[in-house]
Amino acid sequence: MELERTPVTIRACAKTYPDGTRGLLATDLDIAPGEVLALLGPSGCGKTTLLRIIAGLETPDAGARILFGEDDVTAVPVEQRGIGMVFQHYALFPQMSVEANIAYGLRIRKTPEAEVRRAVGELVDLVRLNGLEGKRPAELSGGQRQRVALARAVAVRPRVLLLDEPLTALDAKLKESLRDELAELLRRLHITAIHVTHDQQEALAIADRLAVMRKGVIVQVGHGEDLYRQPAHPFVAEFLGRVNRISRSPQALRLGQIELGGMHYTCPEPLRDQALVLIRPEDLAIGMPQAGWGEGVVQQRVFLGDRVQFRVQVAGNEALLIDAPRDSAFKTGQAVGVSANPERFMPSTEINT
Ligand code: ADP
Ligand code: MG
Repeated sequence: MELERTPVTIRACAKTYPDGTRGLLATDLDIAPGEVLALLGPSGCGKTTLLRIIAGLETPDAGARILFGEDDVTAVPVEQRGIGMVFQHYALFPQMSVEANIAYGLRIRKTPEAEVRRAVGELVDLVRLNGLEGKRPAELSGGQRQRVALARAVAVRPRVLLLDEPLTALDAKLKESLRDELAELLRRLHITAIHVTHDQQEALAIADRLAVMRKGVIVQVGHGEDLYRQPAHPFVAEFLGRVNRISRSPQALRLGQIELGGMHYTCPEPLRDQALVLIRPEDLAIGMPQAGWGEGVVQQRVFLGDRVQFRVQVAGNEALLIDAPRDSAFKTGQAVGVSANPERFMPSTEINT
């Protein structure tokens, strides 16, 4: 099945709810044809509001413009917009078979039955549900249900696929496997998709690019790896992973240094004015006390299976979280060396470049 790859252009989209709540402040966003974009942010930041505006389920404040390709769809009603949607729990029709669930959208559009059968057959192949056509949703695994929901959403050949926290209600283990499967399926469908989630790992795993949202505003848009390594905003740094905060004394600021456990690093030029810098636990190292390393004392050791997380007390700063390989044997109370990769320090306040 050939699906259309439609670019989406969002201009000045804002939403003020009737009770005065600013669900979304004026937002611009460009989504490339066939791209999977995640809207990522904490609960209440406006993800669903933006998604519903794109779908046509919510009317934006005056002045907004939404384009699918060249078509201005701002005033086009939801059923004519060419949207496929996947919701939390997938919202399958429990009394209908897999076949009937997938065919639903085509049948209400009065598609000729021969064509319905051909399309459903193709979709069943595409999402690998062969042999399960007659089953009800309750007889399927979580992964199979997800595939039915996706097949149903794309059966009507939407121009854009919208997913609102489809994995949120699942337990951790299932979520992880369905997440990877969803990522793979979206690549295979090659359809423009907007995926709403508050789970940063899910967004990183599924999306080509992430739009990180906070309080009704998109704070930064970019590829996951870039946002993780080079966040332009401290909120992005902290939302995408864990960070340590390293405060710099007036003297360190003056000398262009960052101090860590008594060791002085040259501060990267873009961070020279930052009185507080951030660094991720995996960008710090713990070792035996040694020349050229800072000094610390292990306060806590947490074995996490794939790694060990240490909390290390250092002079002049709050304790540092340090990720180490799983065989690291340093014990609570032990004096250790700490070291940082100075290229990995990140700003704590927005840098205007
Ligand atoms: P998210 O999906 O990121 O959790 P939402 O888009 O659902 O956030 O909500 C954004 C903000 O708008 C929240 O403060 C929420 O309480 C508010 N909001 C959402 N829907 C309505 C509504 N129908 N009426 C009033 N306020 C709403
Ligand atoms: Mg929501």
